Amino acid sequence: MIIQLKRKATQEDIQKTLDRLVELAGEAGIDFRYHTVQGEELPVIAVKAPGADIAKIHEERLRQLDCVEDIKRIADPFKLASRSYLDKRIVNVGDIEVGADRLCIIAGPCAVENEEQIMKAAKGVKAAGADMLRAGAYKPRTSPYSFQGLKEEGLKLLKQAKEETGLPIVTEITDPRNIEMYHRHGVDVYQVGARNCQNYDLLKALTELKRNETAVLLKRGMATTLDELINAAEYLLAGNLQNVMLCLRGIKGIDLKYTRNSIDTGDISVLTHNCNIPIIYDPSHACGKRSYLYDTSLGAVGHGAHGLMIEAHPDPENALSDGPQSLYMGDDIKRKKENLADVIKDVRKYYDFRRSLQKP
Ligand code: PEP
Ligand code: MN
Repeated sequence: MIIQLKRKATQEDIQKTLDRLVELAGEAGIDFRYHTVQGEELPVIAVKAPGADIAKIHEERLRQLDCVEDIKRIADPFKLASRSYLDKRIVNVGDIEVGADRLCIIAGPCAVENEEQIMKAAKGVKAAGADMLRAGAYKPRTSPYSFQGLKEEGLKLLKQAKEETGLPIVTEITDPRNIEMYHRHGVDVYQVGARNCQNYDLLKALTELKRNETAVLLKRGMATTLDELINAAEYLLAGNLQNVMLCLRGIKGIDLKYTRNSIDTGDISVLTHNCNIPIIYDPSHACGKRSYLYDTSLGAVGHGAHGLMIEAHPDPENALSDGPQSLYMGDDIKRKKENLADVIKDVRKYYDFRRSLQKP
């Protein structure tokens, strides 16, 4: 159950509502837990009564309170992310509205490698028509001997790339202790990577800082169910961080001979039907090879993705990480399906076509 309070509700109103809830739940013999969320949006009280029939709570007597705007029953295991609570959530990153009516393209190399590489990449991403630049400064790698990222130096270079191109920056955060530093360097979107999808301490720490100025892109873990993913996002929403995007990037499957992961584009449809958070698809980590990326990107758009996050590198053959899955940049590429600007052109066209089909 979600109790929405009126915009002007005070702390006393919240307490009054909770007192009434205690009384009514007591009458119904129900044990409940609650969580209050306050901020820019309407203040809400999310109520859960695990194992009990919450319908036994006399809802009308809650509605009688002046400060109560509305009460919603939500059957989903997640609440604030549910479409029964809110149909659609639009995420603001600068002037960009993710989840509105334009496909959002985030692109860039897997990692910041040096000044020349990231500046070339940033200019290429901008010229290709992407909306945001993404590159990792802190790289969680499977092997401790692989390139681990330039760390704070990488953040400084990203800031420089942002100043030069005006593109908002998306980069992965791996450690809650670094959040303040990321903020200092002007990071716009904090990517929580697959390995940290259910790192609740990191998620909670993200909600404690600059919640109105930041956005989080939460990637699906390698073997994370959709409910687990949405509930991880629920930690951010419950902490009143509203600018949340989900990112699917493939999952471990039974056949990883041909692709890096099992391509989970079909799950985009499931998520958009049940959950109000915009969905970004990452075809690069799903496929692991640039040759599959074009079809997978169109497939993701076909399933209703609100955006794509694509790896592209000015010199993929010499990339320090994820070169084989990175698209080429620039105009001199004959293989159009492997060139960032051409892929972006086609996915945008397809997105607009798909939207035109849905018009009444
Ligand atoms: C990445 O985005 O570069 C990355 C490491 O991806 P994932 O967390 O999905 O493995
Ligand atoms: Mn990568």
